[in-house]
This record gives sequence, structure tokens and C-alpha cells, in this order.
Amino acid sequence: MSDDWKMRTRLVHGGTRRSQWGEVSEALFLTQGFVYDTAEAAQARFEAAGPDDFIYARYGNPTVAMFEQRMAALEGAEDAFATASGMAAVSGALTAMLRAGDHVVAARALFGSCLYVLEEVLSRFGVEVTFVDGTDLDQWRAAMRPDTRVVFFETVANPTLDVVDIRAVSAIAHEVGATVVADNVFATPVFSDAIAQGADVVVYSATKHIDGQGRVLGGVILGRQEFIRGTVEPYMKHTGGSMSPFNAWVLLKGLETIDLRVRAQAATAMALAEALQGHDRLARVIYPGHPSHPQHDLVVRQTGEGGTILALDIRGGQAAAFAFLNALEVVLISNNLGDAKSIATHPATTTHQRLPDAQKARLGITPGLVRLSVGIEDSADLVEDVRRALDAVPAG
Ligand SMILES: *Cc1c(COP(=O)(O)O)cnc(C)c1O
Repeated sequence: MSDDWKMRTRLVHGGTRRSQWGEVSEALFLTQGFVYDTAEAAQARFEAAGPDDFIYARYGNPTVAMFEQRMAALEGAEDAFATASGMAAVSGALTAMLRAGDHVVAARALFGSCLYVLEEVLSRFGVEVTFVDGTDLDQWRAAMRPDTRVVFFETVANPTLDVVDIRAVSAIAHEVGATVVADNVFATPVFSDAIAQGADVVVYSATKHIDGQGRVLGGVILGRQEFIRGTVEPYMKHTGGSMSPFNAWVLLKGLETIDLRVRAQAATAMALAEALQGHDRLARVIYPGHPSHPQHDLVVRQTGEGGTILALDIRGGQAAAFAFLNALEVVLISNNLGDAKSIATHPATTTHQRLPDAQKARLGITPGLVRLSVGIEDSADLVEDVRRALDAVPAG
């Protein structure tokens, strides 16, 4: 791969390794292990495996390595480690480096499973976590301590689409020597500049935009080579959260088209945000790319684009939100996001059901809130579908 190649070229060719057959499409090495010519060769490989030496699929695999290298090229990271799911990436990145007595500062608005890891799991091992409002820099500053080891946030929070200022929070974290771990799913790797803006470690659920077609689970941890190979790899390869070669192969194919898909999805999301402004059944249309978003200036600086997800706060609470969801014809009711198919989710009763009502209210997860992940269908059809379903909501 040439360093001069632009992103779309890297997404098609980056990380490719061809076998002796010269295949065009990346080979799927669906094998758990590898054969050694001699006992001495096996011993030598266990002593010191080079980048092209594989031992066991939990440690590494050629198809998985192709995915890791293509992801690193896309993100502008030195290295990457592929994981079994997005949650294996989040929990792996954190537990690989934390130990009892460490302090973590995290944004409060998080994906439910991320919250579980921070609230329930880390505390069991003697790690103390302080939660802050991720949009309030004063709270970040006040929470930092000399023993703060990690700072964790979703760069754009699920499902309220609050945006965390990566540059500012990273500067605050680095003053006490903390490592910044950014869950960047909603920003997507296409619009991300998180590492250049100060994040030390970026994690993705590859299940979302990287697959982009709702097929497989996957995740990836990106960062400096020393962290990925020295800290993450030993932890992941011995604890078992590695990616399946089959999933890596599906995700490699997803990466070929991610730039085309995500840009089209973001353009349609913007068209929807425009078309729905002022609709009388809506209390709010939340889209980071629209000038009406309270952090629009930050979004422009940080990602340049608003992403592929909107949130609609429907007047009339849960009954109105359900009437809207049930009237949709093109958009599916489900809970994935970043998919080619548009998907609507009611967070209060599904993805964030577990949270007590007071916590939902504090996070802005109102009974009328619907998360809308915009797919690659025709933009006019989607605008028509959402408008028609909103019109079907009984006036409150
Ligand atoms: C989906 C998601 C995850 C978890 O990813 P899985 O692949 O489902 O394990 C983590 N963080 C965010 C922000 C997500 O949207």
C-alpha cells in the first residue's frame, strides 16, 4: 500500500495479503491453526512470531490481520486489534490496562452495555469510576485526580446525540497523564479524526457501520503500536475475545464500501433533519449535522458531518412514539444502527429499558424519543415514510 493513497483506495486495497493463488477477493483463512515444517520451526515461532507468522486464531489469523491493517489505515492509527464484538473492544481496552486502585472518569451518557462494564464490572475489581456530564468541560476538569488512569466517553452519545469535545477533554485528561479511550461508533470511522484530535485509543463496534449490512458482530481497538501489541494483544489473546476469521472477512468486504455508504446515509439524514424541522408532532429533531443542534459548531470542527443517526422527540410520549413506529413502512423497528436498512428504535423501552426512570430523564431519554438510523434507501422514500408515519400520530 502506498502512503499517498487516498481513503477510498485504501479501503479497497489496504492491508491485502495475497496467497500463492493470487486471488482478487481477500482470502478467507477459516483455520484455527497453522502447520510448522519442523519442530524447530514451531519452537522458533512460539519464541518470536513476526507479523506474518501465525500460531492460533485466538492470537491472530491472516484474514483478521488484513482487517486490522485496513482499519488502522482508515483511522490513521499505528495499529489495531480486532475483537469478537464491540463490547469485547470496550471491555478489553479498559481491563487490559486498568488495575485495582485506579480511577476512571467517564461520560454519563453511554450505550447500556458500556454503562454496565463501567458501573458494575470495574467496581468489582477495585476500580473507582466517576461519571460526569460529557458536554460540560468544568465537570471533566473537576473529576480528574492524580490517580486517574483512564478517561472514557462516546464521542457522540447513544441515543441523545450529545457530542463530547475530543480535543478539549483529551487535553484535560493528559494533564494528569490519563489515557483517553473514545467509543467512536456514532461518529463512524469515515468522519473520525479522533486520534489527531487527542484520543489515545479509539474503539468501534464493527457490527454497526463497518459491516453496514447487519450480518456479523465485531469490534476493533485502535491506538499506538506499543499499546495494541504490548497491552491489548496479550490480554485479548489469553482471555479469548478475538475476532472470528469469517467475521473479519465479512467486515473487510464492508470496509470496501463504507465510505460510499456512510456518506450517502449522512446526506439522507441531513435531508430528513431539514424536512422534519417544525413538524407539529415533533417536540425536537436532534441531528448533530443540522444548525439547530446545540453543539453544531463543535460537530463541524470535530467531524465535519452529522453522521447517520437522528433522534426524534415525538409529542405525546410513549403512546405517540409507538403510533409513529407502527405506522412506518420502509423503516424497520429494530435495534441495530449503521445498517443499509433504515431502523427505528424506542430507547426507553428497549436499549435503555434497564435504567431507572430518573436516570433516563437525566440523560434526555424521554418517553417520546425515537432513534432513527438512516440506511441507504432512496432519500425521498425515507422522507415520505417518516412524514407519513408522523402524520399518523394522533394529535395530542
Ligand atoms: C453497539 C455499540 C456498542 C457494542 O457493540 P456490539 O458489537 O454490539 O458489542 C458499543 N458502543 C456503542 C456506542 C454502540 O453503539
